[in-house]
Amino acid sequence: MQTIAAKDGIDSYLIDAGNMKGGHAEQLFIPESDVEVAAILGDANSSGTPVTVSGARTGTVGGAVPFGGIIVSLERLNRIRSIDRDAMRAVVEPGVILADLQRAAEADGLFYPPDPTEWSCQIGGNVATNASGARSFKYGSTRDFVERIEILLADGDKLSLRRGDAFADADGKIELVTASGTKITARVPTYRRPNVRKNVSGYYNAAPLDAIDLFIGSEGTLGVITEVELRLLPKPESFFSGIVFFRDEADLLGFVDDARSLAFAARRDRSRPSQIDATLIEYFDSNALRFIAEKFPETPDGMAGAIFFEQETTAADEDALLAAWNDLLERHRADIDRSWFTTTEADRERMRAFRHSLPVSVNERVVRNKQKKIGTDMAVPDETFRGFLKYQRELLEASRIDHVIFGHIGDCHLHANLLPRDEDEAVRARHLYGRLIAQSIMLGGCISAEHGIGKLKSRYLYVMMGERYLNEMAELKRTFDPKAILGRGNMIDERYL
Ligand SMILES: Cc1cc2nc3c(=O)[nH]c(=O)nc-3n(C[C@H](O)[C@H](O)[C@H](O)COP(=O)(O)OP(=O)(O)OC[C@H]3O[C@@H](n4cnc5c(N)ncnc54)[C@H](O)[C@@H]3O)c2cc1C
Repeated sequence: MQTIAAKDGIDSYLIDAGNMKGGHAEQLFIPESDVEVAAILGDANSSGTPVTVSGARTGTVGGAVPFGGIIVSLERLNRIRSIDRDAMRAVVEPGVILADLQRAAEADGLFYPPDPTEWSCQIGGNVATNASGARSFKYGSTRDFVERIEILLADGDKLSLRRGDAFADADGKIELVTASGTKITARVPTYRRPNVRKNVSGYYNAAPLDAIDLFIGSEGTLGVITEVELRLLPKPESFFSGIVFFRDEADLLGFVDDARSLAFAARRDRSRPSQIDATLIEYFDSNALRFIAEKFPETPDGMAGAIFFEQETTAADEDALLAAWNDLLERHRADIDRSWFTTTEADRERMRAFRHSLPVSVNERVVRNKQKKIGTDMAVPDETFRGFLKYQRELLEASRIDHVIFGHIGDCHLHANLLPRDEDEAVRARHLYGRLIAQSIMLGGCISAEHGIGKLKSRYLYVMMGERYLNEMAELKRTFDPKAILGRGNMIDERYL
């Protein structure tokens, strides 16, 4: 195990993609086995030292940014232990990089769908944040693929949880037994979950609650994930993908509504062949297209927005599906001549790079100009989505602050990135962010659909949850981590602990 003291340089471990300032820690530990992780935790728990778990630090909410104590980086627990082709399962250590797992699965004719746009993240980080992204429209989030996890609790004791083995009872009580035989009784928070397609705001509590789901999305606050068994799918034969441009936003939104409804209809009734069933439906507003044009100059100008979609195909249904998509696009007056379509792997990768280039270009500009960025991550109920988008657009345009709106429109979940140029704009941008949060909550939405709460959004979780439910979350955390050493500052403000 490598141990590095702060004075010997651990700067890159003090920041994540959210650019939160002021991170500091006394020491960095880079263990090579779960036994070493358990020993570090045992010592930290005895002395009450805060522990921040570090994945690949691609998180955007400061979850992996430490404020005191020690950092435990899982980068060397990076073995793919097995891929079982017949059972369609992978067993991995937490530090395995997502792109490496996806490649290894594909080499065996299998497919691991979660696709949080940034492929350098770790599987442990993905489980800890319940990462989702574009393809969750069809396949769901990381949670939907996690079959078993091993977790080290704050004192180093181990919990092994397999999906389906332990559930909360009707009173919201969960009973678990650790490897050392300790019985833990936890109480599940009682808040009602918003009626949205994606939500990672607070501990998961949907009934009937499987114990494994409490830990998925717990952002390093309940334990350290040291092994994950994942469900895989058969690798799709091929895909049809398109980036389609629209001159008129109303046409674009009509297209999205229809593509979404057709996908839901196809999933309800699989008996009819060759139905439109997008794996992803991603949105770019006109500002986003201007940003991307810096990296992809072939992007047509004068467009109101664009949609990136993808559809699984087979040799048998490809022609029919291409025709069905073409009809849909014509019906909604997409600018088909200037749009891009492909059935080849290489061009599909280029389309994914087009999508990825947007958050990357935004982050590069922020770093280059030493600017601030305020990024939203709210999802709202389907029926309120159009109104919410209109409200956002009008508010942001009136502010004259640089911004882009993009993301997972299939799931009624968009990101607005506000890029204030000076302190005055930064103050106004924070106010606007507050108004968007309030509007989302008022519409029955959530404050974070996929990035998590971390440290940057904990005060907004308070706005969404209020005292009572934050106290319930804190009680749950203390059950597993009585000295509150893990992921301090993530999700729950310290005054509740
Ligand atoms: C350009 C870009 C695009 C992105 N797009 C998306 C997107 O579309 N969808 C999406 O969901 N996310 C997206 N993200 C966010 C990010 O990639 C995910 O949150 C990812 O899951 C974080 O993984 P990580 O390994 O980098 O974790 P980190 O950032 O290192 O950590 C995230 C949190 O998990 C905890 N943690 C990490 N590993 C463990 C472990 N083994 N046990 C317990 N706790 C742990 C940390 O303490 C921290 O609280 C994007 C990020 C970038 C930079």
